[in-house]
Amino acid sequence: MKTIYVDNAATTQVSETALNAMLPLLKDTYGNPSSLHHLGQRAKEVLEDARERVAACINAEPREIYFTSCGTEADNQAILSAAYNGAKKGKKHIISSKFEHHAVLHTLEKLKAEGFEIELLDVYKEGIVRVEDLKAALRDDTALVTIMYANNEVGTIQPVKELAAVCKERGVTFHTDAVQAAGHIKLDVKDLGVDMLSVSAHKFHGPKGVGFLYCKKGVPLQVFMNGGAQERNRRAGTENTAGIVGLAAALEEACANIDKNSARIASYRDKIINGIKDIELSFVNGDLENRLPGTVNMCFEGIEGEGLLLLLDQKGICASSGSACTSGSLDPSHVLLSMGVPVEIAHGSLRISLSEYNTEEEVDFIIESIHEVVAYLRSISPVWEKILKGEEIK
Ligand SMILES: *Cc1c(COP(=O)(O)O)cnc(C)c1O
Repeated sequence: MKTIYVDNAATTQVSETALNAMLPLLKDTYGNPSSLHHLGQRAKEVLEDARERVAACINAEPREIYFTSCGTEADNQAILSAAYNGAKKGKKHIISSKFEHHAVLHTLEKLKAEGFEIELLDVYKEGIVRVEDLKAALRDDTALVTIMYANNEVGTIQPVKELAAVCKERGVTFHTDAVQAAGHIKLDVKDLGVDMLSVSAHKFHGPKGVGFLYCKKGVPLQVFMNGGAQERNRRAGTENTAGIVGLAAALEEACANIDKNSARIASYRDKIINGIKDIELSFVNGDLENRLPGTVNMCFEGIEGEGLLLLLDQKGICASSGSACTSGSLDPSHVLLSMGVPVEIAHGSLRISLSEYNTEEEVDFIIESIHEVVAYLRSISPVWEKILKGEEIK
């Protein structure tokens, strides 16, 4: 059976380019960049070269890039740093959105337990934060606003540039979790006007376990890991040189091909959206215009997401019911609930996240399989007949 991988929002296959860039760091240039001998210094050169290339991809300066062990770490570092710096000035109010990734939401919960006041903005049916809501929520004691660039479950894109501008006007630090956006849509930190931005390599065909935080010069960044002097004293620990080089290669490759790839991927996404339109009581979650090229999240009434995924998997299709972090638990997605999807319908969600490695043939097979599996599950469902008649389900 052929594997059809459409769970790219969870993680991606490492590209040939990234893999080939990494191998020499593992085999030959294995020195510690902090060592003074030639092998260490060679590794250091490679590391700093990667930092320059990464910075160029997002129009930042090399010294504004801090490599981390993942996107989660970059989110933690950004949020905790801005929160604690704010607290020093008596500012303990933080604004975010209801459908952030758990890397953000759980960090905010920790801060709440420490006495910070957390306010989560509504994302509405469209899955998009409203700029006027942010304006109304900002206070003199707001330390930080953190709003994701693109949602990982439904793919909707937030008005980051406008949100950042509002924060700038009020002198409030603005962070965005751009893990789903980087490599998929163009990112220019100067144009966006953000203070901090998180990225993870494994969401754009780089390796797992490496990411970076962009932190604009002049924005204070607290130490996240204590130890050596790596990453300009902000994040101790021997650098993951192979991972960092893989990240740089994958990001460059993704950015160079962004227009070409996103046009084709978006056409596949739209083919899927159109292809499932005729399935009764089914719908696509979130705004149809402002979304990532590759992500589509659908709900089918009267169906359990788990059953749907297992049957698709039997056909070789690797998809998801939403976040990889919550799949396996029976709780419906906090993202769909925040968008007003009723609990019983949120249980029947399916996320397809495409990459440039997918083919049109695969897309056709996916559409056909969804039709088949949904029809089968409904045929054995005890509640489907009632739903069709519009009776209340208890
Ligand atoms: C995947 C993801 C993360 C976490 O990144 P890791 O590198 O897996 O820790 C954070 N935010 C979003 C939006 C993500 O999609």
